[in-house]
Amino acid sequence: MKRIVFLASLFTSFALAVSAQPDPSYYLPDGVSYNPAIPTPKSIIGHEVGEWHVTHDRLINYMYALDKASDRVSLEVTGYTYEGRPLLLLTITSPKNHENLETIRAQHVQLSDPSKSSSLDTKNMPVVFYIGFSIHGNEASGVNAGLLAAYHFAAAQGPEMEGHLNNTVILFDPCYNPDGMQRFSSWVNSRKSLVTSTDPNDTEHNEAWPGGRFNHYWFDLNRDWLVAQHPESRARVKNFQRWKPNVLTDHHEMGTNSSFFFQPGVPSRMHPLTPTKNLELTKRIGEFHAKSLDEIGSFYFTQEGYDDFYYGKGSTFPDVQGSIGILFEQASSRGHAQESINGILRFPFTIRNQFTTALSSLKAINAMREDLLNYQRQFYKDALNESAKDQIKAYVFGSAKDPARSFHLAEIIARQSIDIYKLSGAQTINNKSYEATSSYVVPLNQAQYKLIKGMFEKRTSFTDSLFYDISSWTLPLALGLDYEEMKSVPAMGEKVVTATLPAGKRVGSKSEYAYAFESFGYYAPRAIYRLLSHGLMLKVASDPFFHPDGRKFERGAIMLPVAGQEKTLEQIEFILNDITAKDGIDVVAFNSGLDYKGVSLGSSSFLPLKKPIVAMLVGEGISATDAGEVWHMMDIRFNIPLTLIPINVFERTQLNKYTTIIMPPTVAGFSISEGTKEKLRAWVQAGGVLIGLENALNWITTAGLGKFDMKKDEEKKDAQKNRAYADIEEFTGAQETSGAIFEATVDLSHPLLYGYSSDRIPIFKSNNLFMEKSKGSYSNPIVFTAAPLLSGYMSKENYAKAKSSSVAGVSVLGQGRVIGFTDNLCFRAFWLGSNKMLMNAIFYGPLINAASAR
Ligand SMILES: [Zn+2]
Repeated sequence: MKRIVFLASLFTSFALAVSAQPDPSYYLPDGVSYNPAIPTPKSIIGHEVGEWHVTHDRLINYMYALDKASDRVSLEVTGYTYEGRPLLLLTITSPKNHENLETIRAQHVQLSDPSKSSSLDTKNMPVVFYIGFSIHGNEASGVNAGLLAAYHFAAAQGPEMEGHLNNTVILFDPCYNPDGMQRFSSWVNSRKSLVTSTDPNDTEHNEAWPGGRFNHYWFDLNRDWLVAQHPESRARVKNFQRWKPNVLTDHHEMGTNSSFFFQPGVPSRMHPLTPTKNLELTKRIGEFHAKSLDEIGSFYFTQEGYDDFYYGKGSTFPDVQGSIGILFEQASSRGHAQESINGILRFPFTIRNQFTTALSSLKAINAMREDLLNYQRQFYKDALNESAKDQIKAYVFGSAKDPARSFHLAEIIARQSIDIYKLSGAQTINNKSYEATSSYVVPLNQAQYKLIKGMFEKRTSFTDSLFYDISSWTLPLALGLDYEEMKSVPAMGEKVVTATLPAGKRVGSKSEYAYAFESFGYYAPRAIYRLLSHGLMLKVASDPFFHPDGRKFERGAIMLPVAGQEKTLEQIEFILNDITAKDGIDVVAFNSGLDYKGVSLGSSSFLPLKKPIVAMLVGEGISATDAGEVWHMMDIRFNIPLTLIPINVFERTQLNKYTTIIMPPTVAGFSISEGTKEKLRAWVQAGGVLIGLENALNWITTAGLGKFDMKKDEEKKDAQKNRAYADIEEFTGAQETSGAIFEATVDLSHPLLYGYSSDRIPIFKSNNLFMEKSKGSYSNPIVFTAAPLLSGYMSKENYAKAKSSSVAGVSVLGQGRVIGFTDNLCFRAFWLGSNKMLMNAIFYGPLINAASAR
């Protein structure tokens, strides 16, 4: 009956049939009876689903209530967000399965262990289904549909649901991104009118910057599954690896004028490490979604958009681990109701599509249970067979000079159920030295072979030239580490279970004279700031120097004289102990300053450092993710205060309290008044350091504050000749640089490169900014090589311009410095290799010699 009504009213005009109080019967399937002992969402959250946007506190109250009321549900807190919100996981299955849950889990994960999986009887094993919602916090239909899905799973009665629960362990993750979801729900609820505004111009539909999509530090959590740099991902990945689900679903939203999307994505844009069988199974699952959406009269599309290439996305991450990831995208009402090309799109309608596909997912997974279990088992057997044929038997990585970055990669790897070991002893491989303390071995003869390949491989040829996200992410390059593809497995030391940052050491006893440390350590900026924030005077070496025992210190080493400080030696000692223990840096005591080989400690080659006071422009017109990456790095990694200054406040603020201003990349809507531009100019002229990132350099150049000329677009004209209209998207898409890895040669004597030891450094490139090399001497500290592509995709036209282009430079304006970088130096919190260039600009910017200006 219901079906006829909806066919008659077309898919969005449900609006007409529904009042402001959507009735639960609108969502729930016909003919299902619900256990009255299980609370409905409304009885706990205080409103009907879809009437308001559920807030996070109410959402979790409901989940706790289900846990209490239902013997199908058990709830655990698996972590906390940055803002302290609990991350919940509900395990939903039959009461009988609950009694044997640990046995079921232990048996299930054996499917991914070829040494044990052959004997498993998949005919009688439950399938594991991980379902989660709204990783982009402002894609709210998912998380609101989750209320209904949880209710249905806990309360629906009858043989179908009971059968599903006997055969399925549902891992129910009600909210992938609590902080963003809370931000968005507050926005739309607090702007809702009694007479719902459907006008897209209404404030309800126009979130303030940075919007609810991101987590606390403005990161897109749906790019973080592989490297798991955030607490939300860490908790989730732990759940995933503990259970190894067969299917993981990920409910999103897209543009208001669209319809509904379910995977498969574009088949030619699947990552080659994903088996083609994955696509077949995804298509079969899709048939269940299609049928259910047909039944409620909802339109959809599949296979035309989105891809499965980057393993850091939730719907792609499972694909390299014997599981099937499914992406759903619902057109967003972005508020309670909004006009669209398909009529008025109402929030309840969007919730219903998500809820319907949550149910069709469960149906599909049950119908395909054995196939999915067998697929997972076979995936891991095949992986092991492939690893036996692979010429590479292990990866070794490390950094002789910086154990911290090496530790961070070990941590990323160990978190993904990959066996990783310490190198048993120091080795020299391909003329690079690998120390036992800072080097690790990842043997390939293990179940997670494919995931390991997905982390380490370099790839420069592709079947498709369009990427929804980055085209390469080779992790040792991202962390700036040396690494080797080994033809045999080297001697391995202890297995890494939970990696810990290796502590540094104190060399020599207490000194009344001086201390020094190298700046190669990843946490050197934190150590430097630790000292400066205590009011200590310290200096950076612009030339190498030697300890009386012969130990050499490179440019960029930090020297702390003891005489003249306002702190006692005991207080200084206390801080230095923190630097070794917390920052992992070796601190060396000096009892004499004499140095005939290098420079003596009293030399003018030691330049005094000042504590930087840093502000960064944020707000409308600034790229939130880029700004968030800098914020996260300064705050979480280096514990350095950073004022996040909104542009409208910047307009009316005195700048002289800041030593340094960071201008992140801009997006549409960026604007600074003429008066503020002149204020900024005067501030730089008086000695300020302005740091421009990526396209901010275009504004800086146009404003006459610095000279960062980009190569012009000439080649493109030719390439665009004589193309078919239908190829517009294909060609323009192919010109985008969505994220590839390039090699630069660097001038290690330049202050921007202090703390680096190799003259070749991988740089992440995700834009088409190609800076002309400066004609000045000493002024091209970082330049792409003549054949710079290490891994990833870039069009021929752009690649021609990328070759030998300049990545960084310094302009001089009065007493000040304007420092520009064309590329993202702290991409997604895992590109640790280039972080220090930005930190060097902050600490050493004022010291850069004017003769090196562009
Ligand atoms: Zn999304």
